[in-house]
Amino acid sequence: MIVVMSIGASTKEISDVIAHITELGFRAHLSQGEERSIIGVIGDDRRVPEPDIFTTMPGVERVTRISAPYKLASRGFHPQPTLINLNGTAVGSNKIAVIAGPCSVESRSQIIETAHAVKEAGAVALRGGAFKPRTSPYSFQGLGEKGLEYLADARAETGLPVVTEVMEPGLVGLVAQYADVLQIGARNMQNYALLNAAGQSQRPVLLKRGMMSTMEELLMAAEYVLSNGNSQVMLCERGIRTFETYTRNTFDINAIPVLKEKTHLPIIADPSHATGKAEYVLAAARAAIAAGADGLIVEVHLNPAEAMSDGAQSLRPEKFVKMMEEVTKIAAALERTV
Ligand code: PEP
Ligand code: MN
Repeated sequence: MIVVMSIGASTKEISDVIAHITELGFRAHLSQGEERSIIGVIGDDRRVPEPDIFTTMPGVERVTRISAPYKLASRGFHPQPTLINLNGTAVGSNKIAVIAGPCSVESRSQIIETAHAVKEAGAVALRGGAFKPRTSPYSFQGLGEKGLEYLADARAETGLPVVTEVMEPGLVGLVAQYADVLQIGARNMQNYALLNAAGQSQRPVLLKRGMMSTMEELLMAAEYVLSNGNSQVMLCERGIRTFETYTRNTFDINAIPVLKEKTHLPIIADPSHATGKAEYVLAAARAAIAAGADGLIVEVHLNPAEAMSDGAQSLRPEKFVKMMEEVTKIAAALERTV
């Protein structure tokens, strides 16, 4: 349920509603828009207060039930798009944010050289995994904390903020010391302990859709982070598993307009994991921007043949430059910038 305050409702009227929500045993989530404030009534969904309790209070315009199982993530709760500040770039705004870098951090020189290359091409943030979720326990598992240190070195050299994955709740504190954005991977989208821990951190979260998850499950996963007090969540469509084998995953282009309608959170597309093959990444990136994505996260490697993970889907820097040129043209047609 949301309580929509009238335009110009006073601070006291807002705090009285919040106090009343708390007295009733619910939690109040205040969202202050440019025009008006909206207060979410959050709590045990078996017990919903009667709307009348609030409609008679001063400053209240109306009370609306949110029928979707996710509340804080819904457009009803927060009609304006959420903007997430990534080192001066507002993700979710008219400017499309491109995050790029290798699948894995492999060495200090590799991540620094890649960071310079992607920055030059127009990326606004650097990606790179230090803790890698690999299908096989015998595959490269990432450099761990050393990898985080190298990412921080690359940020110091280039100024690019760092996006990197965290795989366990106990490591959120450590990863957050180095990272600007915590990535939660597809395999961990429903790791609720991890979502709670990320929700308690102060870092923005890039939440990737599970490979077998519905959009509603993705939104419910985001709700875990939001309900812990962290409002900075970006959702990522990275392809889902279908019967198709010519690509690694099936890019669910539908997810972009559907999620844009259902939620105020920014939507990032990952054409690298969505296709699994470098030769299709440019087409998927163009399609994502045409469909309305707020950003892209793309794997770039200096020498894909030698990559320690996901070489087949990694773009060489020259190819990434080409991708940036192409998506810039598509963005311009939609009156957006990259
Ligand atoms: C990654 O970004 O390298 C990654 C492992 O992605 P996903 O969780 O989408 O598979
Ligand atoms: Mn990868």
